[in-house]
Amino acid sequence: MATAAAFGGSVEGTAQTTDGFKYTDERFADIQMLRYKVEGFDHLTLKQKTFIYYLQEAALQGRDILFDQNGRYNLRIRRLLEAIYTDYKGDRKGKFYAGLSTYLKRVWFSSGIHHHYGCEKFVPPFTADELRTAARQIAPEKLHLAAGQTVDDLCDELIPVMFDPTVMPMRVNQKDGEDLVLTSGCNYYAPGITQAEAEKFYTERKAPLDPRPVMMGMNSRLVRNADGELTERVWRVGGLYGSAIEKIVENLLAARPYADTPAQQKVIDLLVEFYRTGDLRTFDDYSIQWLKDTESLVDFNNCFTESYGDPLGMKASWEAIVNFKNLAATARTEKLSANAQWFEDHSPVDARFKKEQVKGVSAKVITAAILGGDLYPSTAIGINLPNSDWVRREHGSKSVTIGNLTDAYSKAAHGNGMDAEFVIDEATRKIINTYGDACDDLHTDLHECLGHGSGKLLPGTDPDTLKAYGSTIEEARADLFGLYYVADAKLVELGLTPNLEAYKSQYYTYMLNGLMTQLVRINLGNNIEEAHMRNRALIARWAYEHGRAEKVVELVKKKGKTYVKINDYEKLRHLFGQLLAEIQRIKSEGDYEAARRLVEDYGVKIDPALHKEVLTRYEKLHLSPYKGFINPVYKAVRDAQGRITDVTLDYSEAYDAQMLRYSRDYNTLPDVNE
Ligand code: ZN
Repeated sequence: MATAAAFGGSVEGTAQTTDGFKYTDERFADIQMLRYKVEGFDHLTLKQKTFIYYLQEAALQGRDILFDQNGRYNLRIRRLLEAIYTDYKGDRKGKFYAGLSTYLKRVWFSSGIHHHYGCEKFVPPFTADELRTAARQIAPEKLHLAAGQTVDDLCDELIPVMFDPTVMPMRVNQKDGEDLVLTSGCNYYAPGITQAEAEKFYTERKAPLDPRPVMMGMNSRLVRNADGELTERVWRVGGLYGSAIEKIVENLLAARPYADTPAQQKVIDLLVEFYRTGDLRTFDDYSIQWLKDTESLVDFNNCFTESYGDPLGMKASWEAIVNFKNLAATARTEKLSANAQWFEDHSPVDARFKKEQVKGVSAKVITAAILGGDLYPSTAIGINLPNSDWVRREHGSKSVTIGNLTDAYSKAAHGNGMDAEFVIDEATRKIINTYGDACDDLHTDLHECLGHGSGKLLPGTDPDTLKAYGSTIEEARADLFGLYYVADAKLVELGLTPNLEAYKSQYYTYMLNGLMTQLVRINLGNNIEEAHMRNRALIARWAYEHGRAEKVVELVKKKGKTYVKINDYEKLRHLFGQLLAEIQRIKSEGDYEAARRLVEDYGVKIDPALHKEVLTRYEKLHLSPYKGFINPVYKAVRDAQGRITDVTLDYSEAYDAQMLRYSRDYNTLPDVNE
């Protein structure tokens, strides 16, 4: 499972930070490109750098697989567009070339012709005739023509796929009542196979009493053979996508001698065996070995992983990430964990609900070194794997947050206009600019390492009593634990905050988000539904209402615009402590009625006038709702014998240059993959 970044939110601008690193790059359509920094790479050993070098090669070799999984014409369309993009003879400043450039950038971004998030086919901003005219001007040997095929034949084949709104309108169709397999444009089932046929095929093969079932169907395309019977084309060496998988295996084996531990070499061995055989039992063995390896500094995923792209939720798209532990962030979380009992003992909740023995969790923060397949360019910021239910039940899972990606999102948000529009005054903006990022991270650490693990249920309380309100209450509890302690002198003593002013950045942005800015993600007239958003509204609205008499927090009007004004930060902390105590009581006693009232009174409904105002102000900022990342470039420095003596990093490659280079150097699949 993957955690997505909050979208529609805050990222934009041309953020150039004090260290000179440029986090934002070009914009096109509804997309903003960003860059991430691989902080700490230079401090790795040569062995670790070499390991990462081969793993990132393996992570790029599978790129074509995802294009083909997302649609059977995607590779051909991408290659036709790329040929025109690079060899176009006409006016490069004209409307057609501009439209072609934007469309190709979208195809690269989505690994196909459908929107990466909404799944709908996007419309080319040029005509079919213009495309055909441009294609005719390109040297035919550049156009990937099949034997005997002319340029016009190729155009005849691809033009309806790109332009006709009735052909493959959705990559994944989830509309209830329709044949989801027949009507989805993804390439997991051969054309003509119905949903009923596919479901029957897999139901018949399921062993109903197997307590440890493999994830059937996850690594194959379902096709019809010459006799009309259904059969699987497995993605493996010697099978479908074999030429790409061979390249992946080659690089995994090159990486193997540089693995951190023998246990990690075993991970690679099992993965390679899976890629060679396609055996799903081997995949489970690999997953278990991988999740148990928590010692290695460098870690990676490179496989068929998530099944969001299959309407039946079985077939897994190919993705890859290489990463290493963020030692600074891990040191921070270890400090909190080591003091977990102190935090538990000093929290404002009733002694009856406190744990006598509390153990903090060290949240694992990682630094991404490369993104590939379904994690590129649009990516997750948190990953929790493996996905197999029985493996999770019996062996657990590995959960990480990708620190340098969340960091890039927030750095890029600086100067995007949100703060200028919504923060009340310059003094407050200054506090946010100085301490905002550090306190955000710290609040997340407190939430994850201590918040969720604190407190206990009274004997006899059923953990499921709060039902539908359970997850909102639980998130509020962890958030409040973080809010209460981010302002504590103990953090200054531990060296985690610089002074007793820093927390104000967190208090202001939390209240602003909960009372106002998170509403930009909700359409006018709707209620708040999502648990994290409900929790933030609940905390902010409750603190606002309960501090009203003393004017702790106000909503003030300036020139017709509403602003959050915090008059008394210490009293606000006291209110957070009070609500934490009440929410812990609700949880410990299983007080369903109190949970229901808190959530319904403070976390669900939106003041329509304020909502409309926030949406109008947000719209004027023209922010792109979707973001994705350009990868850094790794170069191996070799000696006369060809041995790697260093690995260097370069962040300057342009988005189109990167995509064209990938298409040239990691060109691992033929145009048609049957
Ligand atoms: Zn949480």
